This record gives sequence, C-alpha cells and structure tokens, in this order.
Amino acid sequence: MPGFELFGEKEKSQVQQVLDTGVLMRYGFDGMRNGQWKAVELEQALAKKMMVKHAQLVSSGTAALTVALASAGVGAGDEVIMPTFTFVASFESILAIGAVPILVDVDDTLTLDPAAVEEAITSNTKVIMPVHMCGSMADLGALKSICEKHGLLLLEDACQAIGGSYDGKPLGSYGDLGCFSFDYVKTITCGEGGALITNNDAFKLHADHFSDHGHDHIGTNRGAESHPILGYNYRISELNAAVGCAQIKRLDEFLTIQEKHYTLIKTILAPIEGITFRRVPHGGVENYSFLNFYMPTTELAKKAHQALTNAGLDACFYWYDNNWHYYKKWEHLAHTKSLGKLPQDVLNQLPDYTKADFSKSDVWVGRNISCLIKLSWTEEQVKERADKMKDVLTGLLS
Ligand SMILES: *Cc1c(COP(=O)(O)O)cnc(C)c1O
Repeated sequence: MPGFELFGEKEKSQVQQVLDTGVLMRYGFDGMRNGQWKAVELEQALAKKMMVKHAQLVSSGTAALTVALASAGVGAGDEVIMPTFTFVASFESILAIGAVPILVDVDDTLTLDPAAVEEAITSNTKVIMPVHMCGSMADLGALKSICEKHGLLLLEDACQAIGGSYDGKPLGSYGDLGCFSFDYVKTITCGEGGALITNNDAFKLHADHFSDHGHDHIGTNRGAESHPILGYNYRISELNAAVGCAQIKRLDEFLTIQEKHYTLIKTILAPIEGITFRRVPHGGVENYSFLNFYMPTTELAKKAHQALTNAGLDACFYWYDNNWHYYKKWEHLAHTKSLGKLPQDVLNQLPDYTKADFSKSDVWVGRNISCLIKLSWTEEQVKERADKMKDVLTGLLS
C-alpha cells in the first residue's frame, strides 16, 4: 500500500516549486505565489479522479472525518454508527464534534453488517459511517437503502481504499460524503493530509469555511474576510499538498502494481484446503492494498500469524490483537478516559463498552489474517513470499 515506497523525483520537483516561491500556506499571499496553488490543484485533481463536484483538502484523514461530519451539521447528541473493526480515528472524529459513536458489528466483508446497523438505529441516529478497511468496501447498496428509509447520511471512510469502486463509482463518492487519508502509510501520501469529497454544494462550502476558522474565502484580503460560522484550523500546507499532486498522478500505476501482487499471492494460496477469502460485496472492486483471508478458527488464526511472523513474513497482520484497529483494545473509549469532561450528551448516550458483546465481529476478525501488499516488491519476491506463506499455512492445516 504505502505510496512512500515509490517516493522520488516527481514528488521532489513538486515540493521544490513550492520552496522556490516560499509560500507554504494554501491561502493568501497571491502576489508571491508565482501561480503555485498546490492545494487547489490537488483538490481539482482529486474531484476529477473521484468523479465528484467537490473535494476539500485538510490536514489529515481524521480531520477529514471531523470536517465532513461538521459540514453536514452533525453535532451534540447526534449518533453516528461506526464499525467495531476500523481505526481509532472513527470514534475520535465523532467525539471531536460532541457526537456519540455507536459501535456496530462487522460481517464477513470485515465492514459494517447492514442487519446490525438497522438494529442500532435510534431517534438520535444521524449518520452511518462505513469504513472500507484494508482496501475493500462495505455493502454500500444495502447501507444506502437503510439511509434512505430512515433519513440518514452515508459517510464513507475510504482512507484505506482509495481507487476501489462500488457499482461503477469510486469508493468515497457513493455516499453523501467520502473521506481519504494521505498520511505517510496510505496508498498515496502527502506526508500528512486528508480530504473529503461530496456532490453537495452546501457541505463543500461548510467544509471550506469550517476547516479554516470559519473564513469565507471571499476576496484576496484575508484580514477583511468575514466569518459566517465558527470553525477550527484543519488546513493542509502547500508542501504536503505538493507531494500529493505528484502522488495522485501515480495512483493508477500504484493500483496496477497492488492488483498484480495481490492476484499472484491469492492464486498461490487459493488451493489451500481450509482457508477462505474475505467476501467482497457484489458490484465492488477492491483497491488491492491488502489480501484478507480466514482461517477455520480463531485459535488457528493466532497460530498462523505467529508462524508467519516466525517465518519472517512481517507484512501479515492479525488485527484482532492489534492496539489500534479493534474494539477490544479501545479501553480509553470504554472507560471514557478524556482529559476534560466529555459533553453531557456523550456521557448520557454512550453505550457501556466495557460490557460490549460483539461476538459476531469476533468470529470474523478473530479468524482473519491480513497481508499488506507492498509496492516495492519485485515479482520474484512476491512469489517467494506467497510460496513461503503456502508452506506455513499448509503445515498448520494438514
Ligand atoms: C489512516 C486512517 C484514518 C485517519 O487518517 P489520518 O490521516 O492518519 O488521520 C481514518 N480511518 C482509517 C480507516 C484509516 O486507515
């Protein structure tokens, strides 16, 4: 996955253009910029690539989720449905605007289970936030139907799945809002950065204001701008955006490499009796950043992960025991260990996650092994790696 593996001359040349002007900020300083508007350029390229009207760049993927929620008017007391298997950014972004994260089971897609989502809806629910973990997507058709039935917003976290698609639409563009991360380990990187995309003019306008202290961005004198809403600083810098300008042009090249490596490994592992692969919803195309498969039991998955690690296969992850990606390790959320007091609505409405039962998620995440697909591997290395994996797994399963 990581775009940084192929960081090179194109990225350096984009950054150099910014350094030559000395204007490191995305707004203002029109006279000094020498025509360089890297953040604007990247927003236009991203919107085009994702086939949407608008993109708003911000400082991180987490910020993109926060700004996306805020742009749609989500706030105190509103409930946002999110999966048990994701990155901590999901609940962080929800808590950041005073809303309430409602955790819901995942199924064999390793993303939100539509049936569990429907059960979790209350009169306070405002948003369904599927997370397209490890390059593949939630059943967006089913989730959209639920949103339409209950008058909810669909916000796609496509931070790990840029370049994938569903029903012919780029991931992130199917819902009302979609978010990407360009942090250092994502498929394309800005170093740090993120973006939201939408076809909704009002959401874009709000996001543009909210991510820059409420500035209305009218005219060329920043000091004279007015502030239609309260905002915050979630701006990206021109230096980060410049890296992204180079990387987005290479997205298709990266996806082709990922798909090639993924397909070779999958072909070699497929004949192994006892392993099955993650379900990709009908109409979905992965971005191939990870290959996910299931062992017959959680116990065997733990053994497999250990054996793969011992064999030097460092890119294989076991998310069930991971500190960042699965609800079992989110003690800070379960015990609401915030620095200051959380908003009263959050305290009142937050389920008691110390007693959470997500045994449906445990079945799938517990059995899952997730292999990162690297861009820098040669075909030889991929084959060698897959053969080694096959030996280890066959040994465990025979
Ligand atoms: C990386 C990531 C984020 C957050 O992105 P940052 O840019 O690191 O803040 C959010 N959600 C998912 C699924 C991610 O993988």
